[in-house]
Amino acid sequence: MDLKIGKLKNCQICNHHKLTKIISLGKITPCDSLIEKKRLNFKQKKYPLNLFKCQKCGLIQIDYVVDPKELFHINYPYRSGITKDLKNNLEKISSHVSKNIKFHKKKFVIDIGSNDGSILKGFKKMGYNVLGIEPTNISKIANKDGINTIQSFFSHNLSKKIKKKYGKASIITASNVFAHVNKLSDFLKGIHHLLDDDGVFVSESHYLGSIIEKFQFDSIYHEHLKYYSVKPLLELFSKHNFVFEKVEKIPNYGGSIRVYARKINHKYFTGSSVKKLLNDEIKKGYYDNKTYFNFAKKIEKFKKEFQNIIFKLKKQKKSIIGIGCPGRAMTLLEYCKLDNNKIDYIAEQKESLKIGLFTPGTKIPVKNEKLAFDSPPDYAVMLSWHYAKSIIKNLKKKNFKSKIIIPLPYIKLLK
Ligand SMILES: [Zn+2]
Repeated sequence: MDLKIGKLKNCQICNHHKLTKIISLGKITPCDSLIEKKRLNFKQKKYPLNLFKCQKCGLIQIDYVVDPKELFHINYPYRSGITKDLKNNLEKISSHVSKNIKFHKKKFVIDIGSNDGSILKGFKKMGYNVLGIEPTNISKIANKDGINTIQSFFSHNLSKKIKKKYGKASIITASNVFAHVNKLSDFLKGIHHLLDDDGVFVSESHYLGSIIEKFQFDSIYHEHLKYYSVKPLLELFSKHNFVFEKVEKIPNYGGSIRVYARKINHKYFTGSSVKKLLNDEIKKGYYDNKTYFNFAKKIEKFKKEFQNIIFKLKKQKKSIIGIGCPGRAMTLLEYCKLDNNKIDYIAEQKESLKIGLFTPGTKIPVKNEKLAFDSPPDYAVMLSWHYAKSIIKNLKKKNFKSKIIIPLPYIKLLK
């Protein structure tokens, strides 16, 4: 289960060899490798992005591991704290966990992949001692904000050092991190080592169900090695002596699941919410091949329709920009072959670390959104469509003039 860099031949969780191909999205550039202007003419590395299904445990996964050091490079430009909906959801984890889960009085929480410390800020307000683990330079922002953060990837080895210095944690959280980890065995060993016997490990992962139901194929990218549903998750955790006390669906990133895992001992058992969701998944066909063959057909059909619309507008000399520059937009743009000849620029909030850079592969400049208000383009494609509702509300408030195209889950034009 500790994956090597490069092409995979076996299932990432159960190691079974029978993987069925769902779709190939072509060769795609890693989505957070934005380019500085002076490097625009350098060739960027692209890697195959293919989706597979394991015929044994049902895990939906990609078959290529890009070196994490390349994906989560120190200048990684993503900050969770600047997306308002997400920030609120992350801060709420603290109150939610302490309301729902019983554990003893020691208040020490560790967040893995803590980014700018959004989750830990919630816990800190509640009187917890907090520690973040974050491999990128975003950790410096967290430390500046008073959230004690170690700049590193998490590993079993690091867990030993942390335990020595700080002791065991009563809560460990990992939000939108788990699907990114290529050394899962080592990672879960580290969690088990560092977690108090009465403690809880709370992990949040983008949910396979919401990818299918809400047609979020753009969330397939190299950072996400797998797309979680309950069955393979249970298989993975039980191998590492964890049991699921509870699972719940949450709105983050357009639909995620939150799992409350406990160490297997006499006190904790698989909760009813876990069995219920598993039954639900089986009924909805999440373990049937047919579901994914239909999903693939839908993706190919979308590509044709979306290209037709953009190409036609471009022929009419319309100006088109993108709104929001999430990682997932890179899959959408590169798969649909929409580069800087089609999209003039992408507008981002002024706090974004991506402003001034160019999108990987498609080389579209990222600019301060102010420009889109000062000189409105004819059309704006909502690339952060999973937050469309709140973004459009904001744009309207600020009297945004351009026509808006929402690409997914189906193409919609707002006038
Ligand atoms: Zn498998």
